[in-house]
Amino acid sequence: MGGEKGAAHRSGSFWWRDLLNITHNSFDDPIGECSRFSVNNGFNTSFWHAKWIGDFSLRILFPDMYEVSNLKHVSVAAMGGWSDGGWSWGDFGLAGSDFTDGVEELRDLVGGAEGMSEGRDDVEWHYKDDMDFSVASCYSFLMKSHIPFGPPNKDDEAFGILWKLEVPFKIKAFGWRLFLNRLPTKDLLLLRGIPLPLDNIFCSFCSNDIEKCRHTFFICDVVKKIWNEIASWVGLGNRMEDECLSSFMEWHSFFKLKKVKRCKLGVVWLAITWCLWIVRNDVCFRNDGWSVNNIVWNIKFTACRWSFCGNITDTNCNFYDFCKDPLCFLS
Ligand SMILES: [Zn+2]
Repeated sequence: MGGEKGAAHRSGSFWWRDLLNITHNSFDDPIGECSRFSVNNGFNTSFWHAKWIGDFSLRILFPDMYEVSNLKHVSVAAMGGWSDGGWSWGDFGLAGSDFTDGVEELRDLVGGAEGMSEGRDDVEWHYKDDMDFSVASCYSFLMKSHIPFGPPNKDDEAFGILWKLEVPFKIKAFGWRLFLNRLPTKDLLLLRGIPLPLDNIFCSFCSNDIEKCRHTFFICDVVKKIWNEIASWVGLGNRMEDECLSSFMEWHSFFKLKKVKRCKLGVVWLAITWCLWIVRNDVCFRNDGWSVNNIVWNIKFTACRWSFCGNITDTNCNFYDFCKDPLCFLS
């Protein structure tokens, strides 16, 4: 763990060796990304590379300090020592650097973690709902990160459907980036080495979790309320999917069943995700306020606007009529 090639390569199984070869020096490292460490004696947890405090490794949270640290590949235990019965941290390999404030911030963060104790460190695998490590789970992670156009899966037709929708081009481009998890959400900014203040990495809607595509668009409690309101508005009773492509296809299938025109099948889904993204940007960049009701109203208005671009079905429809029976005007 932690980029130390030698030891793991000598003693690991051939599966382990291959995984490390794939992932060495990669930010899409499935072992580093999906493993959560619980520190006991600290000998088997990489200080900078492992996720042992929160959802990110310290290398991601403090990229500048990691870059200049002389102690990049050491364990948690090697970063400090016991004195007078208490644990104290060293200088993290940053002695003589210009990071005085940063070192204090780092010291506060790790100092708040559970104290060191006897026994080996524990590690758990977390990938979506998989809590046990398996090659299949690891492969699934690599598939998502590296091969968006690789082997087909059941929801791949979403890409083709997206480009045929009658919505402005920039909305299609937005949808495409969302499908591929390429929107600049805060987790991805951190992974790309863009430092963000620690208090500014959370979801703009609930502030309870790190902002990630799946959280902020699909599983955030606030956002779920919005999806459910729109679902009940259009009559989609039991919305189940909370993965991007599966969700798109779920809404697509529902509208198809309701005989909605082919070029309008994804309009409402795109209106939801687009409005969420706009509100998120307004909160992040302008500190704007928001409310669930406002967002829901905006989504309906946006869906209405896009529904009447291209082939207009009923020119006399106004927003009030559209809100009463959206399916009538989409089909
Ligand atoms: Zn949230």
